[in-house]
Amino acid sequence: MPEEEKAPTIMSSMRPDGSRVVIRTADVKGRYVFWRRVIFALLIGCYVAGPLVNINGNPAVFLDVAQRRFFLFGNTFNAQDFWIVLLFGLTFIFTILLITAWRGRLWCGWVCPQTVFLEALFRPIERLVDGSREKAQKAALQPWGMGKVLRFILKHALYLLMAAFVAHASVALFVSVPAYITMVQEGPLAHLTPFIWTAVLTVLFFFNFAWFREQFCVVLCPYGRMQSVLHDQDSVVISYDSKRGEPRGKLVKAKPGEEAPQRGDCVDCKRCIYVCPTAMDIRGGLQMECLACAQCIDACDEVMKKLNKPQGLIRYASQQELSTGKRRFLRPRIFIYAVAILIAFGALSFSLAKRQSFEVLMFRPSGFSPWILEGSKIYNQYELHLVNKQSTAATYRIEARFLEGAEVIIGLPKVEAGYLAEVEPFSSASIPLRIGVERERLKEMLYGSEGEGERKDAILPAVRARIQNLQTQELKERSARFLSPGKSALQPKERD
Ligand code: SF4
Ligand code: SF4
Repeated sequence: MPEEEKAPTIMSSMRPDGSRVVIRTADVKGRYVFWRRVIFALLIGCYVAGPLVNINGNPAVFLDVAQRRFFLFGNTFNAQDFWIVLLFGLTFIFTILLITAWRGRLWCGWVCPQTVFLEALFRPIERLVDGSREKAQKAALQPWGMGKVLRFILKHALYLLMAAFVAHASVALFVSVPAYITMVQEGPLAHLTPFIWTAVLTVLFFFNFAWFREQFCVVLCPYGRMQSVLHDQDSVVISYDSKRGEPRGKLVKAKPGEEAPQRGDCVDCKRCIYVCPTAMDIRGGLQMECLACAQCIDACDEVMKKLNKPQGLIRYASQQELSTGKRRFLRPRIFIYAVAILIAFGALSFSLAKRQSFEVLMFRPSGFSPWILEGSKIYNQYELHLVNKQSTAATYRIEARFLEGAEVIIGLPKVEAGYLAEVEPFSSASIPLRIGVERERLKEMLYGSEGEGERKDAILPAVRARIQNLQTQELKERSARFLSPGKSALQPKERD
């Protein structure tokens, strides 16, 4: 008896004693299988092309974590853009929630990397070497012989090759293809970290796609476990029309003079179970193991076609629709998710539109006194921290102003009219800024001409720095307070 039929209880892929049932799916053809294959090919194409294709002189996708710079489709981001990633993540999560509430686990069945790589790259290897499901099951029951050993070695060698391919494509996203080629030429010892990553990923992918497979979805993946709270009666999911299908039973011809038994359209052929990647029986209702791959729809449609019955015994339908015939799209959770997407996406678009090529911070360097007495002047010291977020070097003009006649020193050595700072791509620079004011003048401003009044700090304007990127003309202004010592420190001294 095939393993899948040995009365699984908790999960279709597990026996009552907890041991695993090896699932060998039957091949199936149909409209959903066709469109899934098209989407899988497109996704794998994008995955491989991402680090290969150049846009604006950089790879279309290059996540340079080591240098904390990220190239995405002609745009460059760095660590300061983390909040953009956060907004993108929020938009993505709310979109997945909305799609799940509306159309079930479309993500799992159509675009999840686990499904895409397994069904597009690894399952075909299994079919190529082991043949059809029936043949593979028969072979599994045979004792080990030369043919079986050779097939086992060939299949696992091909799995390993494929796992190495996926692992190399993954690492290329983080190191770029030209750098990766150089690393391969120079050998693993010269580039130990990427080599170890590639080896570890190859082993993980091999383990996952050759053996672990559907267990990842039904045991590990948290998204699968959340389905009961993400779906409702109106979610359009893969459903079996039990009103039409039951009572199920094999086709039997009525004996002459007898009435044919009353049967539903389900002929209990179990094709829907044999093609299912988790060996689940959709006729028992929607279960956590259903990955919404739609293979059972195609399988059942094939059967219905042969029997000259209408297709769609298994189809995309909501529970509500199956019982009342009505499909409802708009409901509170859809509305809430849609609003959340609009807010997150709006914030993301606004942030991207307002994103600038550089960042600058103005602060007092730590470990310094807020003011310094030097000769007849009081000095305040600041630091401008400039971050160039571009993939090219940039020049910035820095100017600062305070009180009329105050001494302004930007950088070292002192520059009178605008300091020019050169900053390398994706780098930062710290430029010191000093502002000096005559003590006597400060005393007059803060305590009045007689120096006897109440201290008026509010009278002092802020120190303002103006930073302009000379390539893009973007301009930023930063300001900070000027701090003065108490009255006694402002008194002119004998030696002054
Ligand atoms: S494939 Fe269709 S007819 Fe066959 S067992 Fe499944 S639901 Fe019934
Ligand atoms: S029940 Fe149908 S849709 Fe769900 S995983 Fe199995 S074959 Fe795919």
